[in-house]
Amino acid sequence: SGAASGQVARAGRMMVLVNPLSGRGQAMSLYAGPVQRLLTDAAVPHALIVTEHQNHARELVRSADLSECSALVILSGDGLLFEVINGLMEREDWEQAILTPLAILPGGSGNALAASVHYYTQADPVWGVELLLSCGFLLCKGLVRPLDVLSLRLSSGLRLFSFLSIAWGFIADVDIESERYRYMGAVRFMVGALIRLASFRTYQGRLAFLPAPGDSPTLGDSSALYLPRPHPEEHGPPDDLLAPLGEPVPADWTVVEEQDFVLVLATSHSHLAEDLVAAPSAGPADGHIHLLYVRAGVSRVALLKLFVAMEKGTHLACECPHLVYRRVRALRLEPATSPGVITVDGEQAEYGPLQAQVHRGYARLISG
Ligand code: ADP
Ligand code: MG
Repeated sequence: SGAASGQVARAGRMMVLVNPLSGRGQAMSLYAGPVQRLLTDAAVPHALIVTEHQNHARELVRSADLSECSALVILSGDGLLFEVINGLMEREDWEQAILTPLAILPGGSGNALAASVHYYTQADPVWGVELLLSCGFLLCKGLVRPLDVLSLRLSSGLRLFSFLSIAWGFIADVDIESERYRYMGAVRFMVGALIRLASFRTYQGRLAFLPAPGDSPTLGDSSALYLPRPHPEEHGPPDDLLAPLGEPVPADWTVVEEQDFVLVLATSHSHLAEDLVAAPSAGPADGHIHLLYVRAGVSRVALLKLFVAMEKGTHLACECPHLVYRRVRALRLEPATSPGVITVDGEQAEYGPLQAQVHRGYARLISG
């Protein structure tokens, strides 16, 4: 509902982007099989684009003629959509381009958005080809909904856009280490987590956040208290909640007392992977970053229990004293442990201080 939702009204045809190496390397056969059949049956005109290298999709989307494109459909994991969203924001016409309807069809090993989109329909959980068919069905129905986008600032000055997650510590390490189990498909995260659990460690750094309205009863909506400096060259909406990195966070932020963590995860969606429900109350455009962190001191058994519970999304009911969950609108992370890994939407990002704020409903996603 609302002005931003409705049928796909745009003329033209869909651009289906496939990463042939995503997941177990099965995306092309998924296209040639169920996906093509579905789109043909539903008489959805589309063009197939097979990516040839990393950032190929990003480059194509940056320069493509989008006037004839009714939607950009990603048949891959979350990494290819990350490329597409950043490619859209790199265009001169980014304000229009980011309104291009996007859609995800799970073809990778990390299909967090696809699993989330299915979860939001409140249907029973499904995996693999059934999840693909569920997302394919939603694509043919063609309802366009707003999608939250995070604007990320890195200490190098680089600005990135994220639709899914920022991870540091245990989850980021598992994400990158489990690349080598990619042949296992979606279970690679669980297998990676179990292996990492044997030698889990702590990570030092500072974390601060701006609570979302309602997250804490003592804080009101403090939107636009910080006036960003004008940046005429910059693409993307102004980050009105962020003070520059290097300056203290604004006064209405919460600075986390502890500086020893096992993991920090900021997610926009319910699912972290097909079988991990990190933020069961998340919605596609709730305007919230769901921040979870686990403080040092947690036992191996307690951490294992959390991950097992996360398969069903019941970890927040575990009453684990080391787990903290907050709904926030912006956050800052300053890792002190070095070297280290930070992932953004499952992709390894530049390691160092970063901050992010949510831009509610800034993009468009075809979903239920
Ligand atoms: P998975 O869920 O299996 O990780 P992704 O869609 O996340 O699948 O893609 C994995 C990585 O491959 C991403 O970093 C993406 O940018 C990159 N990529 C996309 N197309 C190609 C390609 N043709 N060759 C190699 N890497 C690619
Ligand atoms: Mg990936």
